[in-house]
Amino acid sequence: MNLPDPSSLADRAERALAACGVEWPAGDLSAHTPITGTKLRTVRPHSGREVDDAVEAAHRAFLTWRTVPAPARGAVVRRLGSLLTEHKEDLAEIVTLEAGKVTSEALGEVQEMIDICEFAVGLSRQLYGRTMPSERPGHRLSETWHPLGVVGVISAFNFPVAVWSWNTAIALVCGDSVVWKPSETTPLTALACHALLRRALADCEAPIDVHQLVVGGRDVGEALVDNPLVALVSATGSVRMGRAVAPRVAARFGRSLLELGGNNAAVVTPSADLELAVRGIVFSAAGTAGQRCTSLRRLIVHESIADKVVGRIASAYAQLQVGSPFDSGVLVGPLINEAAYEAMQKSLSAARGDGGTVVCGGDRVGESGFYVTPALVRMPAQTEVVRAETFAPILYVLTYTDFDDAIALHNGVPQGLSSSIFTLDQREAERFLAADGSDCGIANVNIGTSGAEIGGAFGGEKETGGGRESGSDSWKAYMRRATNTVNYSDQLPLAQGVEFG
Ligand code: NAD
Repeated sequence: MNLPDPSSLADRAERALAACGVEWPAGDLSAHTPITGTKLRTVRPHSGREVDDAVEAAHRAFLTWRTVPAPARGAVVRRLGSLLTEHKEDLAEIVTLEAGKVTSEALGEVQEMIDICEFAVGLSRQLYGRTMPSERPGHRLSETWHPLGVVGVISAFNFPVAVWSWNTAIALVCGDSVVWKPSETTPLTALACHALLRRALADCEAPIDVHQLVVGGRDVGEALVDNPLVALVSATGSVRMGRAVAPRVAARFGRSLLELGGNNAAVVTPSADLELAVRGIVFSAAGTAGQRCTSLRRLIVHESIADKVVGRIASAYAQLQVGSPFDSGVLVGPLINEAAYEAMQKSLSAARGDGGTVVCGGDRVGESGFYVTPALVRMPAQTEVVRAETFAPILYVLTYTDFDDAIALHNGVPQGLSSSIFTLDQREAERFLAADGSDCGIANVNIGTSGAEIGGAFGGEKETGGGRESGSDSWKAYMRRATNTVNYSDQLPLAQGVEFG
């Protein structure tokens, strides 16, 4: 495997950061690239005290920003969208360097940011409240949506820019300010996004402090979570992180929006279009080296077609090129770090211990960085290792005979993010989408579990945290609702017919 020279990668990072207008001092936090496992540059992290200062500055900016008309707030997001379009290649370059995504997926992630900006600009004229019929004569009953306050955004390494944009574009049009704590693994993408948004704010003469970036590890995240001026903590990452964050926010009666781990499955039924199914399965399971929250981790196949399906996936896996994400033709880039590789190996040996058979993959490729061939593992049952999320390309295959059992297996895990069914049988498809079907926040038919569009609400149930972000009416999480009753009569009738005096 040919990997680029590490110093050329550091140079590429510097060039892309400079193009985005990043000026940030060097310091104690090192940004590495998973492509070679080497350092790109260092960044000065924030202290807990500086996090509080950033929250206070964001809160002061919020007090002005909330009175700016929503369509005028939308103008900032429109400008951000145009800057993201102008710098699409620069940002995608940094995403590839820091997160190891192949170029097409890195460009796709930046496109997702541009798409959500468009969505948010439209939304800035559509923050609708309802009017309800009042039970009292001469009264009007309605609701109004108001800006909420400071939104703390905590994001994960694997979608280093898209998750920020889902939150920030919507929060800004909703009249909130944002303090962003990116993953300590991907600080450079954050510096680039912050610089571009600050430019958009300056170009629109908007309060510059409505966006703050706080760089660092868990301690920086904790300082953000505990600050009472942070009205909403929108946290994306592992279930472990959500378990730590949720009670801390709840203890101060803050709001939280949690987007945590998934353990996504696809059911393949006897009527499935297998060619289409295999394409969807391979993209979802092996794409992004299995490092999407929506990556396909479990396949539940009817026993009559299991051998055929496994054989076809194994042949497709044999064609997948693993290597530098900058190389054309490569579809599987590196794992983020050694810990991810070790976690994958541990899960594979646990699966073997549970009676699983590794059909193919799981091997390390090369000696620099942590590259692996995607693993396909047949399992006799849904054991503990299958019920846990391993953030690496392992696809466990289980079989079923009865459709109800397939649904039970599907739902028999603690997580509830994304799901899909491959079938041409309408009854099975509809049952999968029905109340007694998939229990996930995302349920698809004849496409894989990953690659969601921004137009729908994104998020999942159970240990995935219950949050919803991005499209549909997810914006409501970023606003507070006021119910208004106006009496325009000269009488004072009480509700429910109550008499008083
Ligand atoms: P992680 O949980 O290690 O870190 C995520 C973020 O949380 C980082 O910014 C980290 O610094 C911060 N953090 C960790 N502990 C914290 C604490 N106690 N208080 C405050 N902040 C804390 O996750 P990761 O390894 O970066 O990302 C992979 C995980 O994220 C996977 O489980 C994946 O499924 C999940 N994920 C979920 C979604 C979703 O939308 N549901 C999207 C992307 C990733």
